[in-house]
Amino acid sequence: MVPWQGNLSFRVYNPDKPKKYGIKAYMFCDAVTGYCLRLKLYPGKSETPASANGATYDLVMDMMRGYFGQGYILYMDNYYSSPQLYTDLFVLGCGATGTLRVNRKGIPQRIKDKKYHDRKVVYLLSTIEEAAKAPCGRVAPRTGTPIENPAIVNVYNKYMGGIDRSDQMVSYATFNARTLKWWKRVIFHVISLATLNAYLCYKTLTPRKPMLHRVFRKQLVTELVQSVNRACVPGMSTKPVGRPSTAAEPIMRLQGQHFPMKIVGTGIKKNITRACVVCSVAERQRLESIGEKRKRAGKESSYQCDKCLSALCVDPCFKLFHTHKDYIAAYKTRVMVNK
Ligand SMILES: [Zn+2]
Ligand SMILES: [Zn+2]
Repeated sequence: MVPWQGNLSFRVYNPDKPKKYGIKAYMFCDAVTGYCLRLKLYPGKSETPASANGATYDLVMDMMRGYFGQGYILYMDNYYSSPQLYTDLFVLGCGATGTLRVNRKGIPQRIKDKKYHDRKVVYLLSTIEEAAKAPCGRVAPRTGTPIENPAIVNVYNKYMGGIDRSDQMVSYATFNARTLKWWKRVIFHVISLATLNAYLCYKTLTPRKPMLHRVFRKQLVTELVQSVNRACVPGMSTKPVGRPSTAAEPIMRLQGQHFPMKIVGTGIKKNITRACVVCSVAERQRLESIGEKRKRAGKESSYQCDKCLSALCVDPCFKLFHTHKDYIAAYKTRVMVNK
């Protein structure tokens, strides 16, 4: 659910959530990583009538499109489960496991007779799991004996937990400012979800460099800002981003107050340095002019500008960068000539 307090024709009420009103969103996620594959908003009751199997059945089948016949197993909660859905998914080459509401019509009596007691009575349905007991991985705190649950319960908890965690991570990280438009709230939610997806990819691809979700987000913002700044300063970008700046426009770099700031590491490495945007560019250009090609030239700095976020030597590059329209030329005439 995307939290939303204001008036909206398709706002829903959910007493189980900390924020009880919102816009309902259905998520289709990878159960191991939590990566969201599909998101669908609930825009109120549909005008096109549902199939004979019902709107929830149609929704699941729509979410699964492209994933049939490949040996996937779909885990879902009791909102979606029905014997008809599970049977049809099985026929289409997709296993299914989930909790079940027995008051739904079409549930056979023999299913209602088999239930599992947790803190309350739980019904589960599956086309692939067994009901035989298996250790769940926890031990009873008093006796120290391993706790056993039906295998289906263990598997269900394992894979549905991933979805809850991803939902939780988005709710912690999402931009929660009071905005007046519901669609802005939805867009921020989608951006948060996309960022979480990127983070989950990062985690999967670089398991040796762990990074917290919030650190990842901060780094992402820094890099996005940097790429915009690069597009605005000469000699930094080959591909212009956004609209081209006109000569009459004031250059951000030459306005206001800018101070040097230490570049802070986000991972294990503490002392981060980056190539200075002034001397390293000027030095590379000089080397190129005499026919030498090098990947690295000039100095690396552990300082950057707190506003521009460009890496700069404190002396003299910082001042040149912030006082000259063409700071590369300024560096060449003032520093290189003296060499
Ligand atoms: Zn420099
Ligand atoms: Zn600056």
